[in-house]
Amino acid sequence: AAKNAGRNQFRYFTASMQERAHYRLRLANDLREALAAGQLDVVYQPVVELATGHIAKAEALLRWNHPVLGQVEPSQFIPIAEETGLIKEIGDWVFQQAAGCSRQWQAQLGKVMQISVNASPVQIRSTEPGLNWLRYLEMLGLLGSSIVVEITEGLLLNASATVADKLIEYRDAGIQVAIDDFGTGYSSMQYLKKFDIDYLKIDRSFVRDMITDASDRTIVKSIIVMAHELGMQVIAEGIETNEQKEWLRAAGCDYAQGFLFSKAVTAEAFQQLMAQEARSH
Ligand code: C2E
Ligand code: MG
Ligand code: MG
Ligand code: MG
Repeated sequence: AAKNAGRNQFRYFTASMQERAHYRLRLANDLREALAAGQLDVVYQPVVELATGHIAKAEALLRWNHPVLGQVEPSQFIPIAEETGLIKEIGDWVFQQAAGCSRQWQAQLGKVMQISVNASPVQIRSTEPGLNWLRYLEMLGLLGSSIVVEITEGLLLNASATVADKLIEYRDAGIQVAIDDFGTGYSSMQYLKKFDIDYLKIDRSFVRDMITDASDRTIVKSIIVMAHELGMQVIAEGIETNEQKEWLRAAGCDYAQGFLFSKAVTAEAFQQLMAQEARSH
């Protein structure tokens, strides 16, 4: 019986692997058309300043509305976009959308509305010429500080000259840099010193378990203290409860984002959130 079960399991495993490979191939093919066909959208999640409770920034997040499969999660198609190299074109497009929004919101608010964009390691490592971000901002009449680039820890581990140059270029232009999902990768204090990082974004997993797990609380507190000592600010991700928000605020965390405040919404809905807030203060 054990042998049979083993064999069945094996068969099941290969079938599902085949299915998965097929699904990925399909996504890879369809993704090529998605941008031109207008199936991609950028939505914006508010980032709230904990001291005031005001919306201070936004994070741009990509959405794919597939004509047959419906909404496909970024976690499913970003890796495919990276493997196929499409991420460069898609990433430039997300940046353009975010920069356009930032300009519109600044006109509405009369102050800089910073928008962060996620940059894949593949994008940053690439030496192929793509859109010149600095020139694009200039063309829109935007300060570099209108944009934050979110990168992952892995990128800075053994960073090549290309990566280092790009980060210096950003810094010189005033574009800020955030480390996304901090604490989940190859965290090294060395690179925090070496590169000019502006924000650490504490990964959702620490925030999720913080209230029940004392070691997660210690980790979060330590990240906040270290970041401040090194001249960085901290953004906590995935805040879903008031208790988490209050604890983070008391611990001196600068910013927070999460479903407690809002999920990511369309540019129009984000504008309404800001207008609502302006009326209520
Ligand atoms: P991320 O950059 O860490 O983005 C935060 C993710 O957490 C988003 O998922 C957001 O919807 C989700 N989130 C925010 N608040 C909460 C909360 O309170 N609870 C829970 N459970 N989740 C929350 P999303 O939009 O599915 O994106 C997943 C990841 O895909 C992103 O993680 C990012 O790594 C990647 N991604 C998204 N857009 C882009 C893009 O334009 N370019 C690149 N390279 N990657 C992107
Ligand atoms: Mg991010
Ligand atoms: Mg994150
Ligand atoms: Mg800086």
